[in-house]
Amino acid sequence: MNNISKIQSIAKWLSQKNIDIAFINNFNTIKYLTGFNSDPIERVLALIIFKDKEPFIFCPSLEVEAIKENNWPYEIYSYMDDEDPYKLIANTIYKNISNPQKIAIEAKNLTVFKLKKLTNLFPNTNFSTYIDDYIDQLRVIKSEQEIELLLKAGKDADFAFQTAFNKIHEGVTEQQISTEIDYSLKKKGIMHTSFDPLIQFGKHAAEPHGETSDIKATKNELILIDLGTVYNNYISDATRTVALGKITDRQKDIYNICLEANLEAINAIKPGISAKELDGIARNIITKYGYGDYFIHRLGHGIGQSEHEYPDISQSSNIILKKGMCFSIEPGIYIPNELGVRIEDCVYVTKNGCKTFTNTTKKLLQL
Ligand code: MN
Ligand code: MN
Repeated sequence: MNNISKIQSIAKWLSQKNIDIAFINNFNTIKYLTGFNSDPIERVLALIIFKDKEPFIFCPSLEVEAIKENNWPYEIYSYMDDEDPYKLIANTIYKNISNPQKIAIEAKNLTVFKLKKLTNLFPNTNFSTYIDDYIDQLRVIKSEQEIELLLKAGKDADFAFQTAFNKIHEGVTEQQISTEIDYSLKKKGIMHTSFDPLIQFGKHAAEPHGETSDIKATKNELILIDLGTVYNNYISDATRTVALGKITDRQKDIYNICLEANLEAINAIKPGISAKELDGIARNIITKYGYGDYFIHRLGHGIGQSEHEYPDISQSSNIILKKGMCFSIEPGIYIPNELGVRIEDCVYVTKNGCKTFTNTTKKLLQL
């Protein structure tokens, strides 16, 4: 699926701002605009959009066929590994415009090294316009077709949770559960997770980004499972915390506080509310019960083709939510050396509320 109309919107934006070219080199942006999905790693992949000429893709030679398969309707220029890609890009641009005045860049992605290459080749060109925010705006409202794909990815995540729940027992390691999830997904033809499933037992879950390890499950602890899948480039991301054996009232209380924060935030979602207000609703609940200091991250992040994208759902995000925006709601309470609880669903904003992409129960499961 390509988004030629969005490339045209970028051309229009360039023309309104009187900028000659947009130099797009974030492979996620290129995936979104062209349908071609490849992280070039150290090689060079760029989409050059002109204000009043046809765009072109510049890529490593080995990618040309894959780009054609994605029905890219414009020119593709490529380079061999022993050629200088920046020189070739510059030559191609100069063939179209003899003296570009302004080139817009993706500042959040373009490294100092790459910018230096460009400024050396275009010594008279101004590179001070950043296109990042405009691209965020282009991507932030998901179409019905995009929401269908996100719903499909959500279903696959629900399936993955069932596998995890079935495989959890005393003595199993976090890594074994993660492997079972990967295996069951692949057997079903779901070939990609959006990140390695994060499985954390007991006090290990107090580190929100701690890695899945060889820790063994023991009775009477909480277990955190954060996972996501990819369907046609669209991503799911969800977290459940479950109990193995009998847990204490304190563990249960903390779970229920986190759940209340999750449900109240989700209930409040509708067009017109700000991201900051939403974060505040969840944060106030957790704070009211005395755990505010243990909620150590934002409430959520945008989701789509990228696992984390615009908008942020945080105290510093004034964005007003609109129908079609998609993001996570993931309050967490992390008590060092004791436990971690996070409950996460991604949602899409509807005309007067929202719907979740994942539907695995949030009632505390006791395995
Ligand atoms: Mn998330
Ligand atoms: Mn997650």
